[in-house]
Amino acid sequence: MRCEECSDKLDRFVDRELSDTEALQVQLHLEGCPECMDHYDFESHLKRLVKHSCECDKAPEAFREKLRQILS
Ligand SMILES: [Zn+2]
Repeated sequence: MRCEECSDKLDRFVDRELSDTEALQVQLHLEGCPECMDHYDFESHLKRLVKHSCECDKAPEAFREKLRQILS
């Protein structure tokens, strides 16, 4: 898996929305790629913050979009 694919799926990986096979592929990539692991740490951390600070749908979505731009 390439880093582009990984970061593409990272969001759904954090949300546990991937199939078992996809999740495993992402997991394997993360273990071998410190850069993507950083993104994963960052995003999962951020997601927890968002969940805590705001339960509404719109803001986290916009925030995620922003995050995607930062990460890409
Ligand atoms: Zn990578």
